Order: sequence, then structure tokens, then C-alpha cells
Amino acid sequence: MTTALITHADCLTHVTPDGHPERVARLEHVLHALEPLDLTRVTAPLAAEDDILRIHPASYLADLRRNRPAEGFYQIDGDTFLSPGSLDAAFRAAGACVRAVDMVLGGEVGNAFCAVRPPGHHAETDTSMGFCLFGNAALAAKHAVDHHGLSRVAVVDFDVHHGNGTQDILWDEPRALVITSQQMPLWPGTGRADETGAHGNVLNLPLAPDTGGIEMRAVWRNHAFPRLRSFRPELIIISAGFDAHMDDPLAQLNWETDDFAWITAELCAVAAEVCQGRVVSTLEGGYDLNALAASARAHVQELIRAAT
Ligand SMILES: [Zn+2]
Repeated sequence: MTTALITHADCLTHVTPDGHPERVARLEHVLHALEPLDLTRVTAPLAAEDDILRIHPASYLADLRRNRPAEGFYQIDGDTFLSPGSLDAAFRAAGACVRAVDMVLGGEVGNAFCAVRPPGHHAETDTSMGFCLFGNAALAAKHAVDHHGLSRVAVVDFDVHHGNGTQDILWDEPRALVITSQQMPLWPGTGRADETGAHGNVLNLPLAPDTGGIEMRAVWRNHAFPRLRSFRPELIIISAGFDAHMDDPLAQLNWETDDFAWITAELCAVAAEVCQGRVVSTLEGGYDLNALAASARAHVQELIRAAT
């Protein structure tokens, strides 16, 4: 079995103002770093409107369409912008995640990485925020349970920021377990350990600033992986943010590139035990271009190793 790399050039047409950390060059660096790897390369489709409406109300989608600028930018909040290409990019990002779930559950590939932007894990049910428009990982989870009929799907999120959007969308979804570690305190401010979901289906693992891979590994080994194993998901979806890297400018965790390889390998090991290795990963944050590229490459190399 192989690893799918799912992306689309439209994801480069979502433009942000000069100096914005979530910029086109991020994806260009990731794709360049993945060029030498042996991957099944897949063009991301546009998500169907019905896919988006699994997790966002029609009014939310209508607002985004109405606010899409013909030129320049529409500013949604302090750090979230629409450019003329943003919705095409967002529909490709969401479509990549849907396609990834279809390919992995259909046995076409062993696992999949969606190299997409805008990222998704801060987009709440009816609120764009934190550079995110559609909840890509949550959508993948909903697609897996609603369309494919899975009984249990896990979303794990190691981005340095709390995946508030994924938590919001899946808060009342008993078929989905959400496990997320994040620096705390840090924007967006949510993700305390006592936020546990409507059905006890959310596990938040706050990490203190200036901690590194040793602390992270202990928390995931002692709390995240046992919970994941006991839940026995039929699919594991990864919100793969690489901004916990020590070189990242937006946060203060000190993970090294090898920590991203480690957590990926461990997640793939759990997947091999409980769900035939079925993993779908989607790009979230990571704002130092070199650290992002190296960490994403390390992540995907572990996916490839697990799939073969
Ligand atoms: Zn982040």
C-alpha cells in the first residue's frame, strides 16, 4: 500500500496580506520538501456543497460567498482574510479531506496526507477564525461516520494551538473522539483539561510554554495513546500542525523535527493495531518555512513507512 499526497494548485490562490504568517510560501515549501518522496499523487476535488453543509450552516456558506472580494481582501477578523481565490482554495482543502477518507476507507491507499490551505481546525460551526474557513478535519470525521457509516472515528490534533473549531463541531458527536494537545496559555484560549465534550468524547491535553519533546511524549504516551487504544477508532484523522516546532514564531513550545516523526509513528502504530493502519492527515499550522517543510517531510516519511 502507498501513501496518497492530495493537493491542488488552487490552494496557492488563497492570498493573505503582506507579512501574514499563513502565506502561500508555506504550501510551496511543503510541496517542495515532499517532491522526492514516493507518493501516490492525487488532485484534490472541490468539496460538494453538501459536504460543507455537514458541518457548517447554509447561512455561513452564503456569508462567505457574499463577502468574497473581486480584488484585494475582505477582513473577517483580526487575522482571517478572504481573497478572490480563498473559497476555491477552501473547497479544495475540504475536498482533499473527503477524497482522502474515501481513498483510505476504500483501500486504494494505506494512508493519506492532504497538503492544503487554508487550514481548518479553528473554523467553528458558524465562525471563521484563526486563518481557517472550513473545518477540514471535522468534515473528514463527519464524512466518515455519516457517509461511510463508521461507528468510531478519532481526530487527533498536535498543532500548537487548540483546535477549537474541531472541538466545537464535534462536541456533541458521540461517534467522534477528539484528542488535542496545545500550548496553554496561548490563543485561542480554549482547550482546558475540563473541556471534555457532550459525551466525554473530547480529551484536551494542555502543554506549558517552554516545554519540549520530552514533556510532550510523556503526555501523549500516558494519556492520548491509551485513550485512543481503548476507543478503538476505525479511522484516525490527524490535524497536523507543525507550529510546536522550536523555530516557530507564533508559539513557545520546543519540539524538534524528530518529535513530529515520533508522534506520527506512534499514531500509525495505534492505527495498525486498531484500524488496519487507516490514517488521514491534513495540514494545519506551521509558520517557520524551513521548520514547517522539514517537519512535514518527517511526518509524511513516517506515513509512508507505515503504509508499506
Ligand atoms: Zn497553529
